Amino acid sequence: MKVLIATEKPFAQKAVDGIRRIVEEAGYELALLEKYTDKAQLLEAVADVDALIIRSDKVTAEVIAAAPQLKIVVRAGAGYDNVDLAAATARGIVVMNTPGQNSNAVAELAIALMIYISRNRFTPGTGHEIMGKTLGIHAYGNVGKLVGRKGKAMGMEVIAYDPFIKEDAVFEADGVKRVGSVEELYAKADFLSLHIPATEQTRGSIGYELLMSMPKGATLVNTARKEVIDEAGLMRALEEREDLKYVTDIAAGIQAELDEKFGKRVFATPKKMGAETAEANLNAGLAAARQIVDFFKTGNTRFQVNK
Ligand code: NAD
Repeated sequence: MKVLIATEKPFAQKAVDGIRRIVEEAGYELALLEKYTDKAQLLEAVADVDALIIRSDKVTAEVIAAAPQLKIVVRAGAGYDNVDLAAATARGIVVMNTPGQNSNAVAELAIALMIYISRNRFTPGTGHEIMGKTLGIHAYGNVGKLVGRKGKAMGMEVIAYDPFIKEDAVFEADGVKRVGSVEELYAKADFLSLHIPATEQTRGSIGYELLMSMPKGATLVNTARKEVIDEAGLMRALEEREDLKYVTDIAAGIQAELDEKFGKRVFATPKKMGAETAEANLNAGLAAARQIVDFFKTGNTRFQVNK
């Protein structure tokens, strides 16, 4: 069996070493393609591999067609919108993510972004504290939960909305108030932390109406995906309400325009860095390797996302 790590943005060395250990101890071969600059390099590298570990790398129908032996793709991370699931499923290829492994890193960044914007992006002037403010969590999954718990620890009122979680106990256990609609969530949140995945249903779903309903001085914090934002609606809301702020880990398509027009009220990290910690790198990388070995040895498909 040959396992390929294909990472345009490489794992930390410690993670690569750990993956190698797991793969080789299982009796498999590990190949490495890092910092590739051309799709052709990826197409060539996948030609004889059985398993593929990726990060934000794009696994398109073309990549899948170039990998006749491929049986499993593991996205070391949470979002898997970079993999063509239909093309993989059509070939019987199992696609997995590594849920929860980078959540703490992303949650810490979400809180950091709230403090950064509340303190005028660390420029002189009087800022605000986040204690006592209402934090709305849109989607209470692995990251959302951790942001909720951290928000509680910072003295925030935490409310959340996630229609796919059946049990109220999930929210109650964290002392978080569940709200019944997305409209109620936005209308009450001084800080709205976005954690919905990018899907057909969520694409462009956060826009003008929701933003305009937010309380005075509110901030939308996006560590999810840029695709879930209706950027024209965001622009219009920021134009009409001088008190609104937008901070994101995923620069908008129109980020340069937003920066120019709204100055300190908007901020985007220079490059997506939510999961960019040594700890998250290691956790997600090792989990990906273990899931591949487990899949080949025992057929375990627990984390399959294209069932
Ligand atoms: P997760 O799968 O654990 O949780 C997602 C949650 O979203 C689930 O609880 C689900 O019920 C909920 N959900 C799905 N559709 C919804 C909808 N339409 N309305 C409300 N809730 C909905 O995922 P996670 O680990 O918490 O990550 C969340 C997202 O954050 C990922 O999909 C990914 O796009 C993004 N992410 C970004 C970074 C980064 O580097 N900035 C890192 C990890 C994850």
